Amino acid sequence: MQCLVTGAAGFIGSNLTERLLLKENNDVFAIDDFSTGNKENISHLFNNPRFHFQQGSILDKDLLKELIDKCEIIYHLAAAVGVKYIMENLIKSIRINIEGTENVLEIASHDKKKVLITSSSEIYGKSENYPFNEESDRILGPTTKLRWSYSASKATDEFLAIAYHKEKVLPIVITRLFNVSGPKQVGEYGMVIPRFVEQALKGEPITVYGDGKQLRSFIHIEDTVNGLISLMENENTNGEIFNLGSPQPVNISQLAEMVKQLTQSKSQIKYIPYRQVYGDDFEDLKYRVPDISKISKTIGFKPTKSLEDIIKDVIEYYKKKSK
Ligand code: UDP
Repeated sequence: MQCLVTGAAGFIGSNLTERLLLKENNDVFAIDDFSTGNKENISHLFNNPRFHFQQGSILDKDLLKELIDKCEIIYHLAAAVGVKYIMENLIKSIRINIEGTENVLEIASHDKKKVLITSSSEIYGKSENYPFNEESDRILGPTTKLRWSYSASKATDEFLAIAYHKEKVLPIVITRLFNVSGPKQVGEYGMVIPRFVEQALKGEPITVYGDGKQLRSFIHIEDTVNGLISLMENENTNGEIFNLGSPQPVNISQLAEMVKQLTQSKSQIKYIPYRQVYGDDFEDLKYRVPDISKISKTIGFKPTKSLEDIIKDVIEYYKKKSK
């Protein structure tokens, strides 16, 4: 099959591309502008005759059309990601997430090619009514707190996808990802597990933001890739939204302790106020745990890897990388 992966050099995109190409024997067309993606993630695929990479932006409609015309299905992962990156690139992030996604949907709708839209657990905002299911209310802060721009842009993507599905009969599936981690994820844009692992391996302080009581649940990239492919391939997912994540929560202090123990590090765990990291306008989410009954029932999704597996794999990745 001919697949298009947008954002193919990113953490999730590169792991998905590798699987589609090497294990599932597809032709993979791919686009990335290397804004947060990394060439190294896919450079080992460049000499594969079934891999067709284009450096460019999803804001370039001509290039996007050229690629979509060659494919049967589209995994749309290109987006501005990471709290730190979003806070430092406000206009660019909103534009890529909204205009870029509309470009993909509009062009795909010409020949009705199925599009998988990767949305986010940020959608639920600061709701305390966890675990969140797909019909849960969204509770967002004011527009002066700029973090919420990401949640709002992803919600607009979801509305756009549903609108194209209803008005243009475009096959779509939307998935809300909850804290994916694993090899190839980097800490540069804020993601907590690679940050803690790098800090612990270097013997630097492990930086817990806030009081460390905020709850998250982490899912391994391999489970995530399995989920994405099944959501695309299963006919019962058309027009639907699915949480994809682990239902097992951990708080960030506990996570720091686990990383410290698994790296056998002597690093101290240091608590830093949010204000110091992101300025006065920042609001973090206290809870972020998915209800995964819908995806489990529809495609039989079940995480196979534990948080310990995730941390160990990230440790191994960083050890290899620093050699
Ligand atoms: N976090 C932290 N130290 C860091 C980076 C992140 O304590 O060096 C916290 C962050 O404030 C959040 C949690 O870890 O509460 C998860 O952060 P991440 O950016 O990975 O994901 P998200 O905030 O999108 O859930």
